[in-house]
Amino acid sequence: MDKIQLKERVINQIDLERENILRIGREIYKNPETGYREHKTTKLLADELENLGLKVDRNIAVTGCRAYSNENKSGIKVAVMGELDSVICKDHKDCDINTGAMHACGHNMQTTVMYGVAAALVKSGVLSELDGRVDFMAVPAEEYIELDFREELKNKGELTYYSGKQELTYKGAFDDVSMCMMIHNFPIEEEGYKVAAQISGTGFVGKKIKFIGQEAHAGGTPYKGINALNMATIAINSMHVQRETFKDEDCVRVHQIMPKGGAIVNTVPADVQLETCIRAMNVPALRDANMKINRCVQGAAIAMGGHAEISDMPGYLPMNTDKIMADLFTENAKRFYQAEEILPFYKSTASFDIGDLSMFMPVLHPVSSGISGGLHSRDYKITNEEDAYITPIKIMACTLIDLLYDNAEIGERIVRDFKPVMTKEEYLDYLKESEVVTRY
Ligand SMILES: [Zn+2]
Ligand SMILES: [Zn+2]
Repeated sequence: MDKIQLKERVINQIDLERENILRIGREIYKNPETGYREHKTTKLLADELENLGLKVDRNIAVTGCRAYSNENKSGIKVAVMGELDSVICKDHKDCDINTGAMHACGHNMQTTVMYGVAAALVKSGVLSELDGRVDFMAVPAEEYIELDFREELKNKGELTYYSGKQELTYKGAFDDVSMCMMIHNFPIEEEGYKVAAQISGTGFVGKKIKFIGQEAHAGGTPYKGINALNMATIAINSMHVQRETFKDEDCVRVHQIMPKGGAIVNTVPADVQLETCIRAMNVPALRDANMKINRCVQGAAIAMGGHAEISDMPGYLPMNTDKIMADLFTENAKRFYQAEEILPFYKSTASFDIGDLSMFMPVLHPVSSGISGGLHSRDYKITNEEDAYITPIKIMACTLIDLLYDNAEIGERIVRDFKPVMTKEEYLDYLKESEVVTRY
């Protein structure tokens, strides 16, 4: 059967599966769970994948599941992924009333697309005509939230890294994966687009900063104290004046909150804490900005004669998605959308943990539509289920056929020509090195 016929068959199958696919998407939407707590969603998807006759591993990184297919085939392996977790959005009318969890980042669509691609390929019989293996993975914890809960899991020895893809990489889940693909939704319809083939993303470093001073009576003997709040003020001002040293194209972002600003007003503050996030579009710029921010903290401690402690946590790495995979996606999207509705590249300065995977393997991470309002916001709304679920499944399934058709010629070429920013081993070293405590 030629490639066009295979695509026809899979598209017809997706139309037959329509109601079942939408049922799953709505069910996940109604049961939002945040990272590493996605037990119900994992069970739902693992059961559905098993019903397709696939072998499924459950709870691959605390939660999450992975189905295997075409295991008798040789050659490349593609991971089709979807993220399980929700955000917390207590002001959204559809949030979980107990936890505030809410699928306001549309991850319910991603996992449904992952399932839909699996169901259509298996039930149409197209999968067995492809050359290469395909794993369907529901991955946990993409949103970098609830860090105290994750720290608890870490202390109990249940995980090593806070992001699902970091944890899965650390556990060797991608050792036999040649490339991966997933789709995220974004409110791009406001700008007149239905899909975007590629999206950029910044990398980030998460930081906790502690300024340690000396208490004294603020009215009586302030000259005996070392004011940690003043240290923090100097540090923040120094960070602001660094901004002219950041290059526009690197999209460096430095943003922070002050969870602790002192104890009582009539005592010179001796314990002041900042939570800081540094983002940039590439690894050298991220390292450069991080070094400068640390310098600002050190300078503030020296200026006031106090101490500072910085705890760095590995955030995500910048996203470099594969241009050839994106071009295949665009070509397949043309079947469903007008050329002017397809955006080749969406410049985003948000961060995604699939950025980490894009350091060492080819990644496809396009953007779909079908929503209105802002991501992570109370006005987030699914407005068109066809654009949100059904059409993305069709485009992704057709792209997978392109990758694995005829001895997986295109897929093999992409893997052969791919130039990693770092190897997987270097990446794991980077994660380890990034978790560091510096004292001044
Ligand atoms: Zn999000
Ligand atoms: Zn997201």
